[in-house]
Amino acid sequence: MKSVILSIGDELVLGQTVDTNSAWLSQQLASVGCDIFAHQTVSDDQAMIELAIRENAPRCDCLLISGGLGPTEDDLTRQGLAAVLNVSLELDPGWLAQMEAMFAARKRTMVPANRIQAMLPKGTTAIHNTCGTACGIRARIGSCDIYIMPGVPKEMKAMFTRDILPHIAGRGNGAVILSRTLHTFGMGESNVGQMLGDLMNRQRNPSVGTTVANGMVSLRINARFKTIDEARRQIELTDAACRQCLGHLIFGADDITLPQVIAQLLATSGKTIATAESCTGGMLAGMLTDIPGSSRYFLEGFVTYTNQSKTRILGVRPETLQQHGAVSEPVVAEMAQAARRLSGADFALAISGVAGPDGGTPEKPVGTVCFGFAHTGGVLTRTISHWGDRAMVRDRACKTALTILRCHLLNVPLPF
Ligand code: AMP
Ligand code: MG
Repeated sequence: MKSVILSIGDELVLGQTVDTNSAWLSQQLASVGCDIFAHQTVSDDQAMIELAIRENAPRCDCLLISGGLGPTEDDLTRQGLAAVLNVSLELDPGWLAQMEAMFAARKRTMVPANRIQAMLPKGTTAIHNTCGTACGIRARIGSCDIYIMPGVPKEMKAMFTRDILPHIAGRGNGAVILSRTLHTFGMGESNVGQMLGDLMNRQRNPSVGTTVANGMVSLRINARFKTIDEARRQIELTDAACRQCLGHLIFGADDITLPQVIAQLLATSGKTIATAESCTGGMLAGMLTDIPGSSRYFLEGFVTYTNQSKTRILGVRPETLQQHGAVSEPVVAEMAQAARRLSGADFALAISGVAGPDGGTPEKPVGTVCFGFAHTGGVLTRTISHWGDRAMVRDRACKTALTILRCHLLNVPLPF
């Protein structure tokens, strides 16, 4: 079964509202094995709405439309459909009665403008709306089933789940699509792609694709199989194959975040952590303490922004600062060791870098960040050049520091 999703609204084409309805509907359709081959968005313009319905109906089995069912002048979806069907709008007495009851229950008077919401193109049927006044519309053009839903996401979702999905679910091609996302941090997309090799072959099922967001490369696995059990089994096999290629570069799946992974590792190992930050100004401590229950493992965070503060609070030697500069491995080593000693934590992470936009030099350009990690066995240091603007450099610096800790806790080599 082939579907097209059509969104209608001036606010959508003007970019004032992001079209979340289409994304949600696509996920729903995919979960019951329906192919989605286009998303289209048009303004509240009747001619555009008519054209979109005329063009899409012959090329799909299911056309899902949202938006433009409101009571105002700019809501023209029902009129557009009526024009395509070449019929007039007729009052649906059943829905009018429902609307009157809804208004009465809220002790409000229904203005005449609302009556349009009970008008349907002749020969089409109303779809119940459990949380709003606009009913949906069900119609058919040739072999294409058309479902029109309100634009308000909450109403659209309720209507789709209750009254539309049951019709569609049985008509899928008998396949289900299951997805899983695996997250990595520490290597670029092209490296990850190379390591995955044939797993990224476009013809493969389950398919494996990479996406990048916030400095993290994620693998999206989509499995399309006849039964949910088979899809689940295949997802596990591909998941294992990806892990075989990338090893511990993969830090988690689906909704889990890097700080959550760290929190779990620290909690299970019973170890504690302290931080000493310069250019990230406490962001690393922020990430670690965003997680509920962080008091079990996070002891203390030092934000030492100036050289004087690094010396006064952490005892970083002025000679070290003078000889190597604040952004240097010897300085972060001293910072980390002092934070560990002062806090009594098992581990301490230190960050000092050039976040920009100013302050870069030819030897230490903007994006250069030094990391220190103090642990029982000593102190590990790294210098890494991060891409991007100030916000990106600071964010990636924190994630790099968390990755250093993660690799130590797992006893695996660093990816950088
Ligand atoms: P409408 O049914 O066209 O009156 O839409 C009502 C409201 O729902 C709009 O003002 C938007 O805020 C929201 N909306 C409409 N379409 C979408 C969409 N595709 N994605 C997200 N929100 C939407
Ligand atoms: Mg609208």
